[in-house]
Amino acid sequence: MKRFFVLLIGLLLVGVIVFTIGLLLPEKYQMPCGTTGDYNHQSFWWHPWTRGVNGSPHSGIDIFGKEGTEVRPAVGGIVVYAGWFGDVSGNMIIVLGPKWKLHEYMHLKEIYVHPGQRVRHETVIGELGKTGNAAKTPAHVHYSILTPIPHVRLYNRQYGSGQQPARFNWMKMFWLNPDEYLRASSSAGR
Ligand SMILES: [Zn+2]
Repeated sequence: MKRFFVLLIGLLLVGVIVFTIGLLLPEKYQMPCGTTGDYNHQSFWWHPWTRGVNGSPHSGIDIFGKEGTEVRPAVGGIVVYAGWFGDVSGNMIIVLGPKWKLHEYMHLKEIYVHPGQRVRHETVIGELGKTGNAAKTPAHVHYSILTPIPHVRLYNRQYGSGQQPARFNWMKMFWLNPDEYLRASSSAGR
């Protein structure tokens, strides 16, 4: 029994160390494709023109471009999902990056990576497309940043001037505004 607890505490300690290392890794952003002029800087969260599915907030930004444009990761990391993700997202890639953040790329035309693959800024992970609910809109990649660590200070953040029902406030702690990270970034592959 004693050996079991020693093992358990050992595993917990390893877990804490791995988690901390992940939090300390630096992250560097680039535009996944196009330039900062290819997305609406107010499109995150709650605006009449970007209301999400079933009235939920628009938890990312839409970067418009020509269908087939190469998409590179905004932040390097390890691919944790690559494939069809339903009628809304279409073809999606999820990359786990530093600070345990998940970076999601939706509506892709083509996917060039597989789960477990290490991707860097230079890696072409897929092609911009119109899959999922982007079929009715101009081609774009929807980019979301999801953090498993609640950013409590963002709970009451007001995004833009649109009406923002309080029932979605909890989501503001987990979905970060990509515009705040990409605004000053360079173009893909540079
Ligand atoms: Zn979108």
